[in-house]
Amino acid sequence: MKYEGDIIRPPSEAHSLLLQVTVGCSHNRCTFCPSFKDKRFRIKGLDEIVEDLEYAARRFRRVDRLFLCDGDALIIPQKRLIEILDAIRARLPGVGRIGTYANAKSIRKKSVEELRELKERGLGIVYLGIESGNEEILARIRKGATPDRIVEAARRVKEAGITLSVTVLLGIGGTAMSAAHARDTARVLTDVDPDFAGVLTVMIVPGTPLYEEARSGGFVLPGTFALLEELGVIVSGARFTDCFFTANHASNYLPIRARMPGDREKVLRLIGDVVRRGDASLLRPESMRGL
Ligand code: SF4
Repeated sequence: MKYEGDIIRPPSEAHSLLLQVTVGCSHNRCTFCPSFKDKRFRIKGLDEIVEDLEYAARRFRRVDRLFLCDGDALIIPQKRLIEILDAIRARLPGVGRIGTYANAKSIRKKSVEELRELKERGLGIVYLGIESGNEEILARIRKGATPDRIVEAARRVKEAGITLSVTVLLGIGGTAMSAAHARDTARVLTDVDPDFAGVLTVMIVPGTPLYEEARSGGFVLPGTFALLEELGVIVSGARFTDCFFTANHASNYLPIRARMPGDREKVLRLIGDVVRRGDASLLRPESMRGL
């Protein structure tokens, strides 16, 4: 497989074949995001993609899951995306699920009907970074989306019958907007009602605009227990129909895996207990945290 630059994928795609169909992210402006900053965005040529697929067909005995890299393969125009999905089916007929990252803009460029066409050709899961449900925070981090647009995009994915996995970021509102961030993120998660919701904690990475903001004092990351309080507000406020909810990413202090709504009270008790005790030894040590 010919990969350009570092390849990033969701943890749940660890066993998937990674097929690079774009290089970088078409948006590439989020202030906290260190990914793809060294890459100039382009859509790979069909011949390059087919070459990789033919290599994979020769090299791997069985491929049942495939993930489209890099940042947001849904930005690829519909006709080309269909050609790519058809090429996957022709060369790797065992692939049962194809996944991709997406953002609100790339999803909203597709109609529900177009998303259904992709679903029929194997697109089974879309990973959408929501980050925050607060409009002002989304503007500050240059997410390129408003809460309403995120909800609309997410609903299109679900209406097309595609599994939706979303992520939100504890701490992204800083100390100044911590409460508003948690409250509004819970509301957007309720409106989106995803199949999977992952909570991560923002990491301030050198080289990002957020790092510069933090250095100049314009952004102050909430303390560890304040971040847990944000998590508590999100769990307490969000209403899910049936969602696998995790906060077990390496960036988090308190790992959680839960099925919502059934585990809601249990998770709230756990968070409340840890916050009340204020005992840092109950949390993942700083040295074990990462992106
Ligand atoms: S849309 Fe995603 S990959 Fe692109 S800059 Fe924002 S967070 Fe990074």
